[in-house]
Amino acid sequence: MKIEIPPSHPRYKSLLIREKLVEGFEKGLVVPQGLIAQGRGEAFDYLIGEKTESFAVKAIEAAAALLLLSEKPVISVNGNATALVGEELVDFSNASRIPLEINLFYRTEERVNKIRDYLLELGAKYLYWQADGVLPGLESNRRLVATRGILSADTVLVMLEDGDRTEALRRLGKNVIAVDLNPLSRTSLAANITIVDNVVRAVPLLKQKYFELSKRPREVSKQIITEYDNRRIISESLDYMSKRLRELVGNLLTQNT
Ligand code: ATP
Ligand code: MG
Repeated sequence: MKIEIPPSHPRYKSLLIREKLVEGFEKGLVVPQGLIAQGRGEAFDYLIGEKTESFAVKAIEAAAALLLLSEKPVISVNGNATALVGEELVDFSNASRIPLEINLFYRTEERVNKIRDYLLELGAKYLYWQADGVLPGLESNRRLVATRGILSADTVLVMLEDGDRTEALRRLGKNVIAVDLNPLSRTSLAANITIVDNVVRAVPLLKQKYFELSKRPREVSKQIITEYDNRRIISESLDYMSKRLRELVGNLLTQNT
């Protein structure tokens, strides 16, 4: 069922994102668990004010630099990412020639094929979907990856990723860039670069920063990476959330007196 959301609704954008996910669910791209994962993300988005804050901008710049410096970067795509930013990911991948790889937590061939067909329809030129390799140190379907994709990548961009897999990628010595609204998730804490932002805002900005930086000397990217400190960025995001909560408490108390 489709509902009309009035643009004046205070959660307008957030509700539109939900609609996109529900559409993805109806098309068979998203699993029910993906809808719940979105809910956990939304709670953190609420706390950061549903805007890309400076800690996310700095992480996105570092991510752009790392992708430019990497020899074999890969963008890992799941059902939620496809439903929320499928077009933007295809656009970025085609323009940068960084391949996409379909990598699902709840993997069935049927769902892989649906996501593949959807991304191909959007025009994806560089796409891995066949999982002919195994990521060591993981159980079940989560370990299945493409040998020429994630398995041989030096840098993997993940979004809405599970902590186990992020940790497995790090153990294999890969650089991990994560987009995750929860700065406390295992993925956020294990990644080399943690972008605490909603994928719908982060992915278009990452593309923009990537192409801005690609026109500048490689030394600029190297400098950004040398100076980048992920622990500090995660701390800044937590500080921002707690500051905002304190402000909200203050507002509430003054209103009541
Ligand atoms: P972890 O396994 O890393 O400890 P988790 O078990 O808490 O995390 P998962 O369901 O495994 O959560 O991963 C999904 C992650 O994606 C969550 O941290 C959630 O906050 C985040 N998330 C959900 N929706 C979005 C979104 N639209 N943009 C960015 N991040 C999101
Ligand atoms: Mg998890």
